[in-house]
Amino acid sequence: MKTYDAIVIGAGPGGYPCAIRLAQLKQKVLCIEKENVGGVCLNWGCIPSKALISAAHLYEKSQAGAAMGIKVSGVELDANKMQDWKEGIVKKLTGGVGSLLKGNGADVVNGTATVVGPKRVDVTRADGSVEQFEATKAIVIATGSTTIEIPTFKFDGDTIIGAKEAVSLRRIPKRLMVIGGGVIGLELGMVYQAFGAELIVVEALPELLTGVDPDCTKIVERKILKRGGTIHKNAKALGYEKQKDGSVGVKILADGKEQTIVVDTVLVAVGMRPSSKGLGLEKVGVTVDQRGFVPTDKFCRTNVPSIYAIGDVSGPPLLAHKATKEGEIAAEVIAGHKAEKDWVAIPGAIFTDPEIATVGLTEAEAKAKGLEVSIGKFPFSVLGKAMAMNETEGFVKIVADKKTKQVLGVHIVGPEASTMISEASLSLEMAAFLEDLSLTIHPHPTLGESLMEAAAHAMGAAIHIANR
Ligand code: NAD
Repeated sequence: MKTYDAIVIGAGPGGYPCAIRLAQLKQKVLCIEKENVGGVCLNWGCIPSKALISAAHLYEKSQAGAAMGIKVSGVELDANKMQDWKEGIVKKLTGGVGSLLKGNGADVVNGTATVVGPKRVDVTRADGSVEQFEATKAIVIATGSTTIEIPTFKFDGDTIIGAKEAVSLRRIPKRLMVIGGGVIGLELGMVYQAFGAELIVVEALPELLTGVDPDCTKIVERKILKRGGTIHKNAKALGYEKQKDGSVGVKILADGKEQTIVVDTVLVAVGMRPSSKGLGLEKVGVTVDQRGFVPTDKFCRTNVPSIYAIGDVSGPPLLAHKATKEGEIAAEVIAGHKAEKDWVAIPGAIFTDPEIATVGLTEAEAKAKGLEVSIGKFPFSVLGKAMAMNETEGFVKIVADKKTKQVLGVHIVGPEASTMISEASLSLEMAAFLEDLSLTIHPHPTLGESLMEAAAHAMGAAIHIANR
């Protein structure tokens, strides 16, 4: 049996930074991964989808230069080449993660881990052999989450697909139905819509992107419709029948009526579930909640003191950057340092077109907490830089406490929203007031000025827009 200070199960955006930080803190660490290092994020999630999104953006932009006096003809997409390019990025990044683990002195084993004791892990290799490992200090569960499948829409890898297949398509669907109007459905649906697919969104709830500021969602929704897409809300996909020509007739129930929609591809994106099954957690006494999440304390510890859990498996939000932060915290705690989860807010970025990025409380959440709020809103349609970029959809919205003027939340929809949200996150972490944002000099002409102007607007002092 091999002995380590710590064993990390999973080498995704939670597990690999955790193993690296443990190694940096002079801990003897083993990281176990059953697939490729990098997890969902690097292999078929965040990064591959962003590569396709940036290709789609370029494809659209290259054809939208007429207003600027630029005429481009013959714009063509080679889906095979795009996939090769995307795969190159994935290879480079996952190779980089492998090198970082090795370079920092973390051992990596390829195989499936089972927790067989509070400090013991068995690893089953591809050839069926089993290796035993012991952790003198801690085991970290960083197994992430897996795609939820609907029984009536079993993935077949080609017509009925999940996000994993959707980022690897070497063809552009003609008619694409997305079941689930959440983050994955809209991000990837809009990619293929930009490349010419007719997009049909089927969402079970009354709104797309539930939980996001509805003002922001509206802008994205409008764009989907403007491009010829269809959105069915409060709708249920009942089942499908394959047609002779290979397409599928999907039966949906919307507005109390059944109808059949014929498409060639169905992307099912109805959420992810924590990967906590089959790990042996219950056998060693680790609490797993009804939804499959592993509850942890502020030190990332489960109810079994030597077992930690980080990232998606430990609970929402299911975001890579939350997993990474928890990985770093768990490593510090295991190495005996003082560290704990003490963030004010976790930002979210949704790479639709335009992007949505949010941090902190929405207007509705603040009001539900009984807070009186001031709202500042600044549209990109009046911002010089946005006009110069010819990307004027959207706005920055700031929610602040009316009495104290402390910033409670920032919600951005528009160009580079995902980049701009970092300033808003810092504002929340530093307990900033509206004045902090509005009095900070922002360079001109930039998109970032919109944050400064929105803060000024919340105080009735915006220069470039009428104050209420
Ligand atoms: P999601 O939870 O964002 O959206 C799923 C949607 O499907 C919901 O709106 C839900 O109401 C709907 N739904 C559920 N069952 C349905 C059914 N039977 N018919 C129709 N609609 C149904 O989940 P997702 O889009 O699959 O993403 C999974 C996870 O990955 C999320 O937790 C998300 O945070 C994360 N993710 C994040 C990003 C990002 O931050 N940019 C990108 C991709 C994924």
